[in-house]
Amino acid sequence: MSSRPKIAIIGAGMSGLSAAHVLAPHYDVRVLDKSRGIGGRMSTRYAGLYEFDHGAQYFTVKGAEFRKVIEEAIAANAAAPWTGRALYLKSGDYVQDIGGKRYVGTPRMNSLPKFLAQNLNITLGGRVSAIQLMDHQWTLGFETGETQSGFDAVICTAPPAQAEHILPASFSDMQSVKSAKLQACFALMIALPEAQDFGWDSLRLDEGPIAWMAVNSAKPNRNADVSCLVIHAQAMWSEQHQEVDRDWVQSQLIEAARQICQIDLHGAAHIALHRWLYASVESGPAKDCLFDPKLKLAACGDWCLGGRVEGAWRSGQAAGAKILSALT
Ligand SMILES: Cc1cc2nc3c(=O)[nH]c(=O)nc-3n(C[C@H](O)[C@H](O)[C@H](O)COP(=O)(O)OP(=O)(O)OC[C@H]3O[C@@H](n4cnc5c(N)ncnc54)[C@H](O)[C@@H]3O)c2cc1C
Repeated sequence: MSSRPKIAIIGAGMSGLSAAHVLAPHYDVRVLDKSRGIGGRMSTRYAGLYEFDHGAQYFTVKGAEFRKVIEEAIAANAAAPWTGRALYLKSGDYVQDIGGKRYVGTPRMNSLPKFLAQNLNITLGGRVSAIQLMDHQWTLGFETGETQSGFDAVICTAPPAQAEHILPASFSDMQSVKSAKLQACFALMIALPEAQDFGWDSLRLDEGPIAWMAVNSAKPNRNADVSCLVIHAQAMWSEQHQEVDRDWVQSQLIEAARQICQIDLHGAAHIALHRWLYASVESGPAKDCLFDPKLKLAACGDWCLGGRVEGAWRSGQAAGAKILSALT
């Protein structure tokens, strides 16, 4: 039994793992996630031979601290630069898709969060439904009816629409949680049994239902003998068609992709559709994290800093630092 202060972190995505890295050297940190795997939106879907990073596609590195983390991950073969051919289909013309240097987890996107999860105390498969403060200690309630108690501080990294139901109404920044909004994204995964060259490894689009296409199998350390395509629908299109019949959504995206790839995708070896209910940030608080010193409670995630992997990391660092200073 540990006598150190105990901290609960809800979510084993990039922000939760980042906060855990700040706090684990000092406290008894427990990371809890409802999913079966680590990584949240940096996840990978498997279908036999085929693998798809169906959430985050790549990440960029701007800050020095995040760069240090990524350099360590690269040294451990958990990440690598992605130098694939990046094109942008802009008003009908293919142009270079310029931007910062791109990185991916290797051999899968979730390899980076798995690398960061080493030596942390993480429990998967339990959804936290509410948290309650009693006698200066937090109790976490799970949807199964179970509880875990004795926490001195809590960090919640769930998307804001879900965090709103977990956090108590007394949370000082509740209004910021309520007014933050994430947009949906349909992800279509298509596997072809042979390697195909489309003339690009990633393609960004500005018209039609598709926003992004990537040859996942062309990323570093993947199986390049097959073609695994990840296709993301535009955020607005995904929002508008959230409740529409999934077969219809899938057929629309397949047809749009067929027109771009110029091959019949109906005969693919594997096709699957996933709906991300909360994918990209439409609006957020523009604060690195939300923190209530009286309650020793923080909310963080990519949505605090405009989305993206590095934003999630930075937000987790900020929440961890706030809790650290509140407990010392
Ligand atoms: C389709 C898509 C494409 C993207 N593309 C890119 C890209 O190319 N580049 C880029 O930088 N970023 C991209 N992103 C965004 C990137 O994935 C996120 O910014 C980052 O992964 C967010 O990390 P996070 O920790 O803030 O949130 P999450 O990864 O969402 O982690 C939150 C965790 O909390 C858990 N959780 C939620 N509620 C509960 C609960 N009640 N109880 C227990 N656990 C709970 C979830 O299971 C999840 O694991 C993309 C995201 C999507 C979905």
